[in-house]
Amino acid sequence: MSKNLIVGNWKMNPESLKEAQKLFNSIKSGKSDFVVCPPFVYLSSLKGKLGAQNCFYEDKGAYTGEVSASMLKNLGCEYVIIGHSERRQYFKEDNEMVNKKIKKALSLGLKPIVCIGETQQEREEEKTDQIIQDEIMYGLEGIPATKVPIIAYEPIWAIGTGNACDVEEAQRMGLLIRKIISKTYNLSVSKKLCLLYGGSANSTNASGYLNEAGFNGLLVGGASLKADEFNKIINA
Ligand code: PEP
Repeated sequence: MSKNLIVGNWKMNPESLKEAQKLFNSIKSGKSDFVVCPPFVYLSSLKGKLGAQNCFYEDKGAYTGEVSASMLKNLGCEYVIIGHSERRQYFKEDNEMVNKKIKKALSLGLKPIVCIGETQQEREEEKTDQIIQDEIMYGLEGIPATKVPIIAYEPIWAIGTGNACDVEEAQRMGLLIRKIISKTYNLSVSKKLCLLYGGSANSTNASGYLNEAGFNGLLVGGASLKADEFNKIINA
């Protein structure tokens, strides 16, 4: 059985390279594999398993402010988070853009970590399952069975709120995602899917998602900025 995968999403933190290096160097190998996704500007100064928090789908050209998947690949980056809810919310990324980014990343051999999840309002309006279905269907359109990316289920209402999803509900969502993947591809792709949970994950609740709810790893935001906490999650 392969190890669980713990991904740290530092978001727009910390404020200096010195702090970034200190934090990165305090992370220790443990029971699970880990990947750190720092801001772009720190990627070339950190040595280890790294991911970016976003990429653009064109290789180069007049796209001010963007960073291409090929630049990340050339830097030695292995993973890239695509379609994080903060990108969807603040930068208006939609499923079509997410799909283009996934395809570009895959074509270069990068491993995309594709984020999906519903807002509080969508949950209250009982639209959760449809949102998840659409994000998978349109996000993964045209992607072959051999290249299905890592998927992170991140209920948006749980991100950065301290209000993590119940283990039971997370398990239901995990099963739903595997069912959609099974229908879109086949059962074996669904079984092999690397499925992460994200949303206020910490060292106390980590084991529930990993050992009870059937997730293969975690996408960790806030708790990945505290080395002790992140190290505990790696060993959960
Ligand atoms: C995230 O940003 O992907 C995330 C899960 O954040 P947090 O762990 O802080 O909720």
